[in-house]
Amino acid sequence: MKTNETRAWGATSATSPLAPLTIKRRLPTATDLQIEILYCGICHSDLHTVRDEWNRFMPTTYPVVPGHEIVGRVTAVGAEVEDFAIGDRVAVGCLVDSDGDCPHCREGNEQFCAQAVFTFNGADAHLGGVTYGGYSRSIVVDRRFVLRVPENLDLAATAPLLCAGITTYSPLRHWRVGAGSKVGVVGLGGLGHMAVKIAHAMAARVVVFTTSTSKQEDARRLGADEVVLSKDAEAMAAHEGSFDFIIDTVSARHEIDPYLALLKPDGNLTLVGAPTEPLPVSSFSLIMGRRSLSGSVIGGIPETQEMLDFCGRHGIVADIELIPIQKVNEAYERLLKSDVKYRFVIDMASIES
Ligand code: NAP
Ligand code: ZN
Repeated sequence: MKTNETRAWGATSATSPLAPLTIKRRLPTATDLQIEILYCGICHSDLHTVRDEWNRFMPTTYPVVPGHEIVGRVTAVGAEVEDFAIGDRVAVGCLVDSDGDCPHCREGNEQFCAQAVFTFNGADAHLGGVTYGGYSRSIVVDRRFVLRVPENLDLAATAPLLCAGITTYSPLRHWRVGAGSKVGVVGLGGLGHMAVKIAHAMAARVVVFTTSTSKQEDARRLGADEVVLSKDAEAMAAHEGSFDFIIDTVSARHEIDPYLALLKPDGNLTLVGAPTEPLPVSSFSLIMGRRSLSGSVIGGIPETQEMLDFCGRHGIVADIELIPIQKVNEAYERLLKSDVKYRFVIDMASIES
């Protein structure tokens, strides 16, 4: 198969820093779009994958080129694609393929398809090996997995919606959050700050739980009605039995029983954070009050477009720190210290320098 070469940044082992690489992309097929990548967000999942922290569930193949919060412009259009044109503002999230035919795909839940292909470290059916993500100058993606960016949204600040946005929007919708709901958001990083903005726009009462004293003021500015320092046992106890829904976005090992205790009867806590190690949970936290604990992974393509349109209507984008790609390793170290306000986004023009 004919290929194009493109500049990228990736890692060659779990212990090496990200560095420049040259990778191959397929030439667009009849159903593909070729996209010049303008911005790509840095998700904590990029870091987990680069360092092979999810080895037991999805081992990393090296070299790995991360990045699944991609926005850019169309530069070539396959012969059978009728609804996109060169120059269109487009986005690509965590998925680039699926069988398109199973019950999950038919329902628009491509994330559950047995053949779903992740944007990076997934099986590349076209070129063999693994897929390479958005820390690169261009990408070729089947039209089914390309999203449209609302005209009123800033492109760089839209990038994080493609993972942090949909990963929080999807469970908020699934658990029917709306006016009258009391929603907790645990962890104010990339996912957490999107959860606050989206739940606030859904008219819920939002309470943020953070370990960082420095984020308290920001939490209110982002849309929280209340902020609780999770180390403050008294402040935690004041919320006992009062939440309809809590979304936990924490990337590292932590206690979840104290949050389960804050749910109302029949309340739900959804984990979206994906720490490497299992989290302990007491049976009593769940059986008392028939509470439930569940998880959620990204969202399907129709729901991702719905989320982008929702954000367009409400003027919601991420709060970002725009960085050149040369600062990516520094950004990873800052993520590990919870020093993120609230999403790093790479300006991909910097890849040429
Ligand atoms: P992030 O920006 O690094 O934010 C994580 C936040 O968790 C931190 O800012 C911090 O918030 C809190 N935190 C970190 N370490 C902690 C600890 N030891 N104890 C308590 N709180 C701690 O990460 P992200 O990009 O939002 O991703 C969060 C997690 O979601 C990652 O594990 C990622 O892989 C996962 N993820 C899952 C999906 C999915 O589909 N389910 C999609 C994307 C990402 P405070 O400073 O406020 O305490
Ligand atoms: Zn992500």
